Amino acid sequence: MSVDAYRKKHEITIICPGREAPPPFMSFQSTCFPSEILREVQQAGFKAPSPIQAQSWPIALKGSDIVAVAKTGSGKTLGYLLPGFILVKNLRHNSRDGPTVLVLSPTRELATQIQDEAIKFGRSSRISSTCLYGGAPKGPQLRDLERGADIVVATPGRLNDILEMGKVSLRQVAYLVLDEADRMLDMGFEPQIRKIVKQVQPKRQTLMFTATWPREVRKIASDLLTNPVQVNIGNTDELVANKSITQHVEVTTSFEKGRRLDQILRQQEPGSKVIIFCSTKRMCDQLSRNLSRQYGASAIHGDKSQAERDSVRLELHTHSSVTRILSMLQIL
Ligand code: ADP
Ligand code: MG
Repeated sequence: MSVDAYRKKHEITIICPGREAPPPFMSFQSTCFPSEILREVQQAGFKAPSPIQAQSWPIALKGSDIVAVAKTGSGKTLGYLLPGFILVKNLRHNSRDGPTVLVLSPTRELATQIQDEAIKFGRSSRISSTCLYGGAPKGPQLRDLERGADIVVATPGRLNDILEMGKVSLRQVAYLVLDEADRMLDMGFEPQIRKIVKQVQPKRQTLMFTATWPREVRKIASDLLTNPVQVNIGNTDELVANKSITQHVEVTTSFEKGRRLDQILRQQEPGSKVIIFCSTKRMCDQLSRNLSRQYGASAIHGDKSQAERDSVRLELHTHSSVTRILSMLQIL
């Protein structure tokens, strides 16, 4: 399959102005991962990299910062862990001086799931990892840190506590991951995240994974990442249409438009409900006036009183369930 066909099939879009993104690894063989790692994924029964893995791995291996926007269950964890393993192997830091890879995660449950994955897939590569989260005694976590961990997975609150105690150093961190960044921000972790990141050297690789891409997440991404390559899987644009709706686009003259609308309306079954969108309030009023000679029609727009708007909405709801609205026409 060609790169374009693969990206199209898996709805991968990449944003990296002025640069070319590397082609995805469509198979495990094409990743050039060390044999220990390939054996682990084979043993796990994985047939091929998931789309986010396929496209993120080559970018991460090149050392670029990444913003990845992909849904839950898309295999993001290994998407960032495996390139992290390779960096740990290359840098050969002494893990007793602090982790090389730091993963921040919003909750204890997620943090332990990430660590489970790090243990399972990192064991044969002799990667050590530990997990720091609140709601549990610090003692065992501090002992793990003393023993040394290449990878630390942490919730921001607990990591800050331990940093304040001076029990962990982040100066060796070369690979920083913010997993579920949107949730961490929702949970109010932003100040803690910023405090933690200040302790990590600026010459690091930063990867941010998020399921949604609202303004707050964009802001923190632009503050903490350097020239990231953005990888989106699926439609992340909230304005993109629902796939279960068939769209017909017709380009006509403004003169033709009225006639065509009339034709479409007459083709509807009796009792059908139709919503028509117009670009101006004036057009809404004019069209609804014209249509009401033949059909029951009313208009809603910003200049209507709330009562008028409510009555139109009520009409839509009472006359038909929403599923009976057969057509939505947009007259531009
Ligand atoms: P996300 O973080 O995107 O929600 P996870 O990383 O938790 O997703 O992965 C979801 C599940 O898919 C996990 O059980 C994981 O082991 C599995 N998985 C990861 N990569 C693959 C793959 N390439 N093929 C099949 N399953 C995979
Ligand atoms: Mg995840």
